[in-house]
Amino acid sequence: MAKKYKGPAIGIDLGTTYSCVAVWQGQNNRAEIIHNDQGKRTTPSFVAFTESQRLIGDAAKNQAASNPANTIFDAKRLIGRKYSDPVIQNDIQLWPFRVVAGKDDKPEIIVKYKGEEKCFCAEEISSMVLTKMRNIAEKFLGSTVENAVVTVPAYFNDSQRKATKDAGAIAGLNVIRIINEPTAAALAYGLQKRANCVEERNIFIFDLGGGTFDVSLLTIKNNVFDVKATAGDTHLGGEDFDNRMVGHFVMEFKRKHNKDLSGNSRALRRLRTACERAKRTLSFDTDAAIDIDSLYEGIDFQSSLTRAKFEKLNLDLFEKCIKTVESCLTDSKISKSSVDDVVLVGGSSRIPKMQQLLQDFFMWKDLCLSINPDEAVAYGAAVQASLLCEESDNSLNLVLLDVTPLSLGTAVRGDAMSVVIPRNTSVPVKRSEVYVTTEDDISNIFFTVYEGERLKASENNLLGSFNFSIPPAPKGHIPVEVCFSIDVDGILNVSAKEESGGNEKDITITSEKGRLTTLEIERMIQEAENFKNEDMKFMKKVEVVNGLDDYLYNMRKVMKDGSVSSMLNSIDKMKINSAMIKGKLLIDGKQDEEAFVFVDFRKELESIFESAMEKINKSYSDEESD
Ligand code: AMP
Repeated sequence: MAKKYKGPAIGIDLGTTYSCVAVWQGQNNRAEIIHNDQGKRTTPSFVAFTESQRLIGDAAKNQAASNPANTIFDAKRLIGRKYSDPVIQNDIQLWPFRVVAGKDDKPEIIVKYKGEEKCFCAEEISSMVLTKMRNIAEKFLGSTVENAVVTVPAYFNDSQRKATKDAGAIAGLNVIRIINEPTAAALAYGLQKRANCVEERNIFIFDLGGGTFDVSLLTIKNNVFDVKATAGDTHLGGEDFDNRMVGHFVMEFKRKHNKDLSGNSRALRRLRTACERAKRTLSFDTDAAIDIDSLYEGIDFQSSLTRAKFEKLNLDLFEKCIKTVESCLTDSKISKSSVDDVVLVGGSSRIPKMQQLLQDFFMWKDLCLSINPDEAVAYGAAVQASLLCEESDNSLNLVLLDVTPLSLGTAVRGDAMSVVIPRNTSVPVKRSEVYVTTEDDISNIFFTVYEGERLKASENNLLGSFNFSIPPAPKGHIPVEVCFSIDVDGILNVSAKEESGGNEKDITITSEKGRLTTLEIERMIQEAENFKNEDMKFMKKVEVVNGLDDYLYNMRKVMKDGSVSSMLNSIDKMKINSAMIKGKLLIDGKQDEEAFVFVDFRKELESIFESAMEKINKSYSDEESD
């Protein structure tokens, strides 16, 4: 029986380009996708830093072209990866913001905020997006929210999952469960379209988003969602298609104008935005125009792209997706003809060529386009969240059985990978292997923990290592049991013990991958709190400045009214005029002042104005009584 959590719990789809939040509404027996302050159901996963404030979501994205170096997106592509990772090196070329190598090769994002250089890790940026999503939900629910289910691509590895949990912790959220995006989408699909399905159905989820690609094969029967296999690429999605388009137009610009704009972050950002828009158009039209004023060195850029050309630019990537589909089916041991529904999720699944290739692969089976590809993941996360909540009025009786995406094991003699938990094993899971020494009289065994499918261990992803002390003995005499356990979030723990009952050790797999330490997380939580205070301070100041501005505006209107100003004595008139001038100066130089200055001045202004008005009113009533 799973632990139940107190208070409301929300589901958050923390996407590469957009995020979405939902909550289960028992009275309607469905999950509600929550609108943000702009009335939109998805929120850009963007964070921007300016001279005066931090912006998150639409406000950050809207100013991206004018502040490219300090507008951060794609944190999900960075999370849990090393700086030297070739994938990150490739991305850095195209990002308009600065990323440098930090401690333990961890990527760090450098921005300028309030005139100072600041450095953030991907977890911190993601935590800011999570905070925004939480605020959206709190506004909607009218209560605080602490618990959340956050989704990750099924193919996220151990360190990417842990880093996502850390991001939640920095945002002050209790991440009660991490679930895989395609599994969440399957929950949404299963509930909306296949409710109470008694016959077993094989559902294939194809989830192509902004930065990640995931596929999963599940069977649904009697409300049991059983994931059979999963596959994907944590670095393939709509942004790669955008990148191909950007590359194409950079070349075209070079050809036409003999100028290279690729080093100019503002021009790149504007070109990328135009490309993304054109890409969306190409999903329903056969060609799309690009028209950007003064793109680079004052040169306007006009061009167009046909759907055929777009498909040509990206065909190898689309085909890569189909290869992944094939490998997932092979792993699941279910033939493509036995797949009952192919469900499309993720914004990029709208691309017609992608749909056509998928349909061809599944032998012209109709694709299910009936669930909202942008919202299904958050919907499923909200369903899962409600199932984990104590006071949830969720009457659903669902069981979710997920799998681990990558094999986990340790290196044995000759650098061979000894797999302890094979990929696509249902989680949670606990498996042990017994290893013995391969040399005489050694007092120490060095264990390494890897994830991946290569037979040569060192070709896989090193998650961590540890030394285990043993009493010296002839080789093969001291068996050590190594236990790998994966929890419901897909997160790994490793322990080792001497079988004879000697030494025992619990290992935290952190060091090699540069996961945040508890201390670092605490520091970041504190910083996040500071940011929250700063944001609130900023909003408070905006409120009082605007209030003062409105008050001055009304004063000016009253003063323009000749009948009022003629009734004022010359001292009051002078006092009011000089206060209005002072007020205008104060508003013009608002950056330099704290909020209380405006509050105090407003009080002063009100007292000057109101006492003058009182005098006028008094003289009116005196006149009347005469
Ligand atoms: P997601 O991560 O699921 O929110 O997907 C976002 C990605 O979907 C972004 O790269 C978008 O550019 C892309 N996208 C959204 N709508 C469309 C569309 N109509 N055609 C092609 N790509 C789209």
